[in-house]
Amino acid sequence: MLGLTLAYRLSQAGQKVTVLEAAPVLGGLASAWQLGEVVWDRYYHVTLLSDAKLRALLRELGLEDEIRWAVTRTNFFTGRSMHPLNNALDFFRLPVLGPLDKVRLAATIVYGSRIEDGRALEAMSAEAWLTRLSGRATYRNLWRPLLRSKLGSNHEKASAAYIWSVIRRFYAARRGGLKTEMFGYVPGGYHRILSVLAETLRGAGVTLEAGMPVTSIAASGTGLTVAAGGKTRTFDRVVNTCAAPIATRVCEGLSDAERERHDAIVYQGIVCASLLLDRPLGNAYLTYITDETIPFTSVIEMSSLIDRALIGGMHLVYLPKYVPLDDPLLDAGDDAVEAAFLPALQRMFPDLRRDQIKAFKVTRTRHVLALSTLNYSDRLPPMATSVPGLSIVNSAQIVNASLSVNESVALANEAAAMLLAGEGMAADRHAA
Ligand SMILES: Cc1cc2nc3c(=O)[nH]c(=O)nc-3n(C[C@H](O)[C@H](O)[C@H](O)COP(=O)(O)OP(=O)(O)OC[C@H]3O[C@@H](n4cnc5c(N)ncnc54)[C@H](O)[C@@H]3O)c2cc1C
Repeated sequence: MLGLTLAYRLSQAGQKVTVLEAAPVLGGLASAWQLGEVVWDRYYHVTLLSDAKLRALLRELGLEDEIRWAVTRTNFFTGRSMHPLNNALDFFRLPVLGPLDKVRLAATIVYGSRIEDGRALEAMSAEAWLTRLSGRATYRNLWRPLLRSKLGSNHEKASAAYIWSVIRRFYAARRGGLKTEMFGYVPGGYHRILSVLAETLRGAGVTLEAGMPVTSIAASGTGLTVAAGGKTRTFDRVVNTCAAPIATRVCEGLSDAERERHDAIVYQGIVCASLLLDRPLGNAYLTYITDETIPFTSVIEMSSLIDRALIGGMHLVYLPKYVPLDDPLLDAGDDAVEAAFLPALQRMFPDLRRDQIKAFKVTRTRHVLALSTLNYSDRLPPMATSVPGLSIVNSAQIVNASLSVNESVALANEAAAMLLAGEGMAADRHAA
């Protein structure tokens, strides 16, 4: 979405743009796939009312009016029992914390959501900040299990800005404190959004080439030579929108200091199972899990949000597991993931039978989430590199917010403005 939006913005300014995508289909993390008879997002996606930049892009594509908004439900699984978490009353009934702890927790969330700029929080660890605001017991019983389930052993490296950005994004989805959440989606999911975006780009003269993994980008004469899919071609400018470790692998001529800054970024990977069921699970879009023995981070019941007529009347559930890059789960086959995940899901939903699961498929991506570590933005490399004409722009540069398509679009808009203004790109030049 970052590369495609950037291509769109550059083409709107009169540039001739080529997009080279390694995968056979466009869309990266937002791409769709086939699960049983259903085509839907490989990873779950919702749009928030507050996603202004994404909504503006969808408006340009003629899709904003199609967004369907719905109130979703949230559950909370403690390891022993499942609890609804949809309003203040549910919150005060949660068994894991005492009454005073709950008051402090609610105050932490309200306080966090009101901080406009989280950069000052980069100087403090998430643990120190949350313990100070919510108390030691709440950190131990609630925040730590939630952080560990999302970040694994990397949770100790997360700055307070990381958890602040998560609180802020999800608090924005709620209409007034701990009330109801409004989530939106375009019928057809990102498959539809990407099809319209690709069609619009082609109409604007952008060349889109999928199945074209870039293996090197090197300065040559006044331009940059890009090797991809067994051929080389030269462009005036290149913007690499891959994750930092991929960018440094293919970009030649970067200084050691630049490489170090990119390679120092700590990434989380993800392994995510999609399930098609012939029955609902808990009818909650999101189930938080604080039981550290459950091998996935949360349960996302997408079909509690989307119209099930769009997915053949089935129920669609995602089981994501965020993992550090050395986690063996990233290399495990679908059968091994199923063997680890299903018994745990049946522990959470004891009446779930294997024959009710009509499809089970796993997707994995190594470099998904650049973790906001201590003093993150001070150490972040700039978009422009020392190689003339070469920029590296990726989601690691989303600071002061959590990873979302809205932020990817905002970053693409910013990068386009930098490329067009700062470096005076003449019209008719050719960028990739
Ligand atoms: C589990 C999950 C849930 C999410 N939920 C939401 C949500 O509810 N709402 C929301 O707004 N956002 C959500 N997001 C975030 C959203 O998906 C991202 O913000 C967005 O898709 C990132 O886009 P990107 O272009 O920066 O990165 P990517 O999608 O990772 O794109 C990078 C692209 O580079 C390609 N590439 C890699 N190497 C090469 C190479 N050598 N040559 C050519 N191409 C290469 C990759 O194939 C990929 O297509 C979610 C993400 C995940 C993982």
